[in-house]
Amino acid sequence: MIFDTHMHCQYSIDSKMSAEEAKAAALQQNLGIIITEHWDEDYPTNPEAFVFDIEDYFKQLGPYRSKKLLLGIEVGMQEETAANDNLLGRKYPFDFILGSMHCVNRRDLYEEKTYAGKTKQEAVEEFLLATLANLKLHDNFDSFAHIDYMCRYMPYDDKELVYAEAPELFDEVFKLLVTMDKAIEINTRRLDSSDAVNSLLVLYKRFRELGGRYVTLGSDAHYKEHVGRRLDIAREIAEVAGLVPVYFEQRKMQRMIF
Ligand SMILES: [Zn+2]
Ligand SMILES: [Zn+2]
Repeated sequence: MIFDTHMHCQYSIDSKMSAEEAKAAALQQNLGIIITEHWDEDYPTNPEAFVFDIEDYFKQLGPYRSKKLLLGIEVGMQEETAANDNLLGRKYPFDFILGSMHCVNRRDLYEEKTYAGKTKQEAVEEFLLATLANLKLHDNFDSFAHIDYMCRYMPYDDKELVYAEAPELFDEVFKLLVTMDKAIEINTRRLDSSDAVNSLLVLYKRFRELGGRYVTLGSDAHYKEHVGRRLDIAREIAEVAGLVPVYFEQRKMQRMIF
């Protein structure tokens, strides 16, 4: 079964989908799913917006939990919150923890002003350096989410991550993920663009060359219509890059059986 390992339901403020709807969408497509609600403690633009009552999450969504519907969390990594972030996986029985970069140096990658006065290369380098700093502080996650998150928002003509623009830093990030024994996500949000597919393929191939083995596939759905979206393209990228699609149950890696 294929698993969509990244989506948001009623505990994420920016989601328009309920767990009930996610479950129905998954059934319809014969998909396994992992719900990954936002956890961004002390978000720079809105400190309280992207956290939720985790006890209540398990209480309310516990009845939905099955072999095909797993309960996870997407932790937005910041250096300042690393100590608390690392405790989440020890305190609560998540199936899966996604580690994400939504901010760099207390600035939100979603906001245009984050890029003010910076060339694209400077912005990408800052993101990669901040990623390295955060990976060194965050140990309790399973897969590194959407490496191309900033490409959704950065205000440059070329919106792709280009390996050749920062090869040493990309390598350092990939090597660190390999050393930490982490998977990397293929996020399907931008895979409708062939430019995105082509530039990401270079990155995933490089991750493989440096010893990476495992990928999770995630739609990052916030609407029921987007559950499972473009997973076929993500699978193809994984195959071409020589990476193995996995998901996590009770924090243990499972291979997807097609
Ligand atoms: Zn995210
Ligand atoms: Zn997400």
